[in-house]
Amino acid sequence: MYFLFAALVGLILGSFYSVCASRYGTGNTIFRPSRSYCPQCDHQLTMWENIPLLSFLLQKGRCSHCSSRIPFFYPLSELTSMLWAVLAAAHTADPLEWGVLMVIGGICIVASAIDLRTFILPDYLTYTGAVIVLGASYAGLLDVTFIDALLGAGIGTFSLWAIAAIYKAIRKIDGLGLGDVKFMLMLGALVGWHQLSIFILVASVCALVFCIATLRGKAGMSTIYIPFGPFLAAGSLITYLYGTNIIAFLR
Ligand SMILES: [Zn+2]
Repeated sequence: MYFLFAALVGLILGSFYSVCASRYGTGNTIFRPSRSYCPQCDHQLTMWENIPLLSFLLQKGRCSHCSSRIPFFYPLSELTSMLWAVLAAAHTADPLEWGVLMVIGGICIVASAIDLRTFILPDYLTYTGAVIVLGASYAGLLDVTFIDALLGAGIGTFSLWAIAAIYKAIRKIDGLGLGDVKFMLMLGALVGWHQLSIFILVASVCALVFCIATLRGKAGMSTIYIPFGPFLAAGSLITYLYGTNIIAFLR
């Protein structure tokens, strides 16, 4: 029952996240227009076209009015949010920790979806996320202690900044965006400095799997720009839940 509730909450929140992400930078706000619409033909979605995941599947990923493709980050946000809600519920029986994890996961999903869509990680999301994680660890609501979180944020952010600077010095192009570096404040704090290396490993594996799966047979890798934010977020969230299992497995 608890898991069913978590899944339902995750699904509804995921739908909200995709609206937040899709309206970023378009001049619309979360509240205006109040009804969801197709960005191609402005068709207002009916109640039946607005059911998370199910509507996407029933409409085979297309707008019922103009048949243009619904961007894949909509169902992806909903699915990820549902999965995160259930996994977080399996991780902790403490409703307070679960609530905090839902907020953190939400920020990660919205930031990742915006990064996928626009290659930008908004400061207000990454900075707010960092404050929430540090605050929650200080209040003892997370598995990570405040000192551990503080060091994780500091060392993680500095390391990523150094990698970005070195890469830029050698290749003369930006390999990592400054947004990714700022995102590390939150994500590094969440895993704590003890698990930073596992976190980077998991994020890199996620990115590598994605590259191999999607870019096979396409132009040279160095010419393709993929946003790294979603992989950093996935790495951090997975490490928070399963870091100790991964370390045990690697040993
Ligand atoms: Zn349409």
